[in-house]
Amino acid sequence: MSSFQTNADVFARSCEVLPGGVNSPVRSFRSVGGTPYVVSEAKGAYITDVEGATYIDYVQSYGASILGHATDEVVAAIKKAAEKGTTYGAPTTGELALAEKIVECVPGLEMIRMTSSGTEAAMSAIRLARGVTGRSKIVKFAGCYHGHSDALLAAGGSGVANQGLVGSAGVTPAAVADTVVMPYNVVPTLDDDTALVAVEPIAANMGLVPPVPGFLEGLRAECDRVGAVLLFDEVITGFRLGYGGATEASGVTPDVWAFGKVIGGGLPVGAFGASKEIMAHISPLGPVYQGGTLSGNPLATAAGLTALNLLDGRYGELESKATRLAKGFRHVFAEKKIAAQVPQYGPLLNIFFTDAAVTNYDEAQAACAGDSYKKFFHAMLAEGIALAPGPYEVMFPSLAHSDEDLNRTLAAAEKAAETLA
Ligand SMILES: *Cc1c(COP(=O)(O)O)cnc(C)c1O
Repeated sequence: MSSFQTNADVFARSCEVLPGGVNSPVRSFRSVGGTPYVVSEAKGAYITDVEGATYIDYVQSYGASILGHATDEVVAAIKKAAEKGTTYGAPTTGELALAEKIVECVPGLEMIRMTSSGTEAAMSAIRLARGVTGRSKIVKFAGCYHGHSDALLAAGGSGVANQGLVGSAGVTPAAVADTVVMPYNVVPTLDDDTALVAVEPIAANMGLVPPVPGFLEGLRAECDRVGAVLLFDEVITGFRLGYGGATEASGVTPDVWAFGKVIGGGLPVGAFGASKEIMAHISPLGPVYQGGTLSGNPLATAAGLTALNLLDGRYGELESKATRLAKGFRHVFAEKKIAAQVPQYGPLLNIFFTDAAVTNYDEAQAACAGDSYKKFFHAMLAEGIALAPGPYEVMFPSLAHSDEDLNRTLAAAEKAAETLA
């Protein structure tokens, strides 16, 4: 084997054995064109490809990494855990410690069940809600992504949106017969056969679309009126907006939560949770079955707990990095007279290349329709800045992004903006 590998060579070989060369579609660059950088390593804010090129990374594993890559303390915790065995199929003190931390931080949450992904967490939350209510129907909002389980894929954001799909082939009509898709930011009138309303409390898979005032409060009231379970999918917002996530930020308390990404410290984790009363329906306490060979995995819980502890007192700093970026981008686009808006919510931000308001999926699709993002993405990449290779993903500045990194990013944006003018 030759010692120098190019991204193109590696990716071509990957395309022979992995569909589209990837294990998750958005990584393929399909919606922006070109060949993905193939990562060899990452540290802090930076990611390095097999050709030795280094980028300031705003993908950060789509939000799984909040401290930055390969944080020393997290790596040490994983190593220490690995030496004691990587999985047992029996209870551990590590999963207890992470569960106690999560329950302590999120107002209203009393018990969790861990999974290995956000998909499983959201999927299991639906089963729980159906088991608790004895009802079938679920309501989701267009452009919200809740993982790739059949019932929740309809009008999903993120990868589904980036591939230009309305849903997925292979999902039977029966699998989605009980799924109702409604527009985000409008409180639907529910029937009393609704088991669950699933929502991203701050939508971050159709670009960033914050809830309008009254939306989450309205969902809470409407769910209470008909006896439906309200699910906050906090897979992105949980432990990213703050320890209390969107629940604390909005002041609205759901019945059931889904978590993932940040709580695994970069390892595969998800969790869903609720009050003790609701969680009593989960097996072995109750009749709703849910399980997993690697659920509550010792490496993942060690990494997750270490990450959560390191976040203590640092959310202000994280948000100020996002604010600095958002203000900087707005300034650049205003100066170059480019139609763009940069929504920000706490540590999350993204760029829509339009002047028109974006409050739901239709408007997000209109905002993402042109090739401005694609051009901007490639111009930024050429300047050493890695944004997500799709217009529907938000930017994830991490605690590792220094002032210098942010300045370099904004200087690159100034150049990249010229390709749009
Ligand atoms: C990423 C994400 C999921 C799915 O999590 P996976 O770990 O990718 O399965 C679910 N909901 C939201 C809001 C997400 O952003």
